[in-house]
Amino acid sequence: MHEMSLCEGVLHIIEREAQTQGFGRVKTVWLEIGALAGVEPEAMRFCFDAVMRGSLADGAGLEIIAAPGVAWCLPCGENVAVSQLYDVCPNCGGHQLQIVGGDQMRIKELEVE
Ligand SMILES: [Zn+2]
Repeated sequence: MHEMSLCEGVLHIIEREAQTQGFGRVKTVWLEIGALAGVEPEAMRFCFDAVMRGSLADGAGLEIIAAPGVAWCLPCGENVAVSQLYDVCPNCGGHQLQIVGGDQMRIKELEVE
């Protein structure tokens, strides 16, 4: 389950932010997870509590924001919505799609004290 290492990565970022911004405690973490990121939100929730235990985000809430997948379709010449990595274009049915959004996970916001 790679969500465990993803959660550890989130914790590293939080710890770095805590040093630069000078906060000591995190209450809520907003995570934006793209539809194409290959990340299971439920697995993230499961790992989050375990990974944050004993850290400055111990007991913090996790809010997951789902970001839609967006791809550029070459034949159509426009951005289209996709829900999976190997989807075809909903307009022309073509496969010449280049993913331009929704394939990443990032910390959107932190509620700290
Ligand atoms: Zn198309």
